[in-house]
Amino acid sequence: MAKRDYYEILEVSRDASQDEIKKAYRQQALKYHPDKNPGDKSAEENFKKAAEAYEVLRDPAKRSKYDRYGHAAFENGGAGGFGGGMTMEDIFSQFGDIFGGFGDFGFGGFGTSSRGRGVTKGSNLRVKVKLNLREVVTGVEKKIKVKKYVACTSCNGTGAKDGSSMATCSTCHGSGHVTRVTNTFLGQMQTSSTCPTCHGDGQVIQEKCTTCFGEGVVKSEEVIKINIPAGVAEGMQVKMSGKGNAARRGGMNGDLLVIIQEEKHPELIRDGSDLIHNLYLSIPQAVLGDTVEIPTVDGKAKIKIDSGTQPGRVLRLRGKGVPEVNGYGRGDLLVHINVWIPRDLDKEEQKTFEKMKQSDNFAPQPDKSEGGFFSRMKNFFE
Ligand SMILES: [Zn+2]
Ligand SMILES: [Zn+2]
Repeated sequence: MAKRDYYEILEVSRDASQDEIKKAYRQQALKYHPDKNPGDKSAEENFKKAAEAYEVLRDPAKRSKYDRYGHAAFENGGAGGFGGGMTMEDIFSQFGDIFGGFGDFGFGGFGTSSRGRGVTKGSNLRVKVKLNLREVVTGVEKKIKVKKYVACTSCNGTGAKDGSSMATCSTCHGSGHVTRVTNTFLGQMQTSSTCPTCHGDGQVIQEKCTTCFGEGVVKSEEVIKINIPAGVAEGMQVKMSGKGNAARRGGMNGDLLVIIQEEKHPELIRDGSDLIHNLYLSIPQAVLGDTVEIPTVDGKAKIKIDSGTQPGRVLRLRGKGVPEVNGYGRGDLLVHINVWIPRDLDKEEQKTFEKMKQSDNFAPQPDKSEGGFFSRMKNFFE
């Protein structure tokens, strides 16, 4: 089934402002909020879709990627995908602030009644990974040490001391949740929240495990291998399902969200999938032509400068940029030509320039130059 357009989901135009997008998302989120539609699976689906759309459209970098490539921009099987596949926990932890003023709409109140006791999910972990430009271009496998909760081995994650029995929780009488009625601007609402005594289990341990103090989880460290695909950009997330924190006393592990950070390259500037290098030529080099060395992600390369090269000209080295994260194509390396004008001249040089000043050949002839910025673009390897 084709995925619905993100703008369509939020019911905004393609040129909607960030404010309009936020407002539209808030409307959708309130409309389909699980607390307003208990047990309604299609409302939950819509709630998730709106969050997914908002996650992309609120971020200018992701939005422009989406505008250019559509959903394909975020499809990447190997890395677990970007953008899509948010859990309810992700939505509330990332966009919780959008429900500002709804004190009782926090995550704690969601879904405990339908979910039933004992089925919990560990929290998600977020780690930042710094990549240099070369790693971004080639893709890379990183090993990172993550501090996280893992199941306690002494009690197999149950939290109970060997042979200790469980008793029904007296706060919630075994249901795992407590309900209360609150007033919000949408009217009176009954909210359900996890029982604070048994944390939703419905049962309490009579004698706790002495290793984990009844939690079923202990703090630990794990070295995790992460495969980062080529072409990622600052702020993107790579999700590793099940690599987050273990849940208290059984249940599913949370996810590990790897947030990409880019290290700046000293000589190459990234512009989407293109790279830019500002090249400075001396006056004689620009006038006479030369062969010069430029940096690329694959090391130094030599390029030929034609005689009579005007500053502002852009040389394009096809395919020497950054691969698209969706695997289709690779950007270019754009060499922007500048000409360095010396500030200090000795007597001899001064004379030489005075002489050149008299020559008609040195009088600017803008008509014979190469016009505006776009016509100055030259496809270097064509
Ligand atoms: Zn309870
Ligand atoms: Zn234990």
